[in-house]
Amino acid sequence: MQINVSQLLQEPIGSTRDYEVDADDEILGDGNTYNVRGTCRLMKTQRSILVKCSLDTVVDLTCVRCLGRFRHPLKIRFEEEYLPTVDIHSGSNLPPPDDPASFTIDERHNIDLTEAVRQYALLAVPMKALCDDDCAGLCQRCGKNLNQGKCDCPPEDIDPRWARLTEIESKE
Ligand SMILES: [Zn+2]
Ligand SMILES: [Zn+2]
Repeated sequence: MQINVSQLLQEPIGSTRDYEVDADDEILGDGNTYNVRGTCRLMKTQRSILVKCSLDTVVDLTCVRCLGRFRHPLKIRFEEEYLPTVDIHSGSNLPPPDDPASFTIDERHNIDLTEAVRQYALLAVPMKALCDDDCAGLCQRCGKNLNQGKCDCPPEDIDPRWARLTEIESKE
């Protein structure tokens, strides 16, 4: 997800470029590669290139209730400023940005969107991911996935800590 902005940096303030993204990347760091698509608009500002992206992907998440894996669409939307590290005209190094967390344009005038896409993808993942709002979850006693049907546990509401004791008693 690299974009060369050497042309744009030499254009008047307010100049824009639209850039199509279609990239495969391990955006969630979960070992899976996801296809990220969409558009980014780059705008030259007084001191930077402002990047505004609207990207979409579909990721694999684990349901917090049934622990099943499911596909989940993610919208990755962000606006970030990328600061030059080298002066486009003289080629000399510029002082580093005040905020060390700032995104930068490298010495070859490339913007790498990967880090921003990863950060915003993680933010877009729901804290408590559910495969379905009505997910029935796992049986507290036998661990069966109740989305796949009822289990054979007795219907009484027995505290699972006592369940084993009840089992032993009933064998006597
Ligand atoms: Zn679930
Ligand atoms: Zn059960």
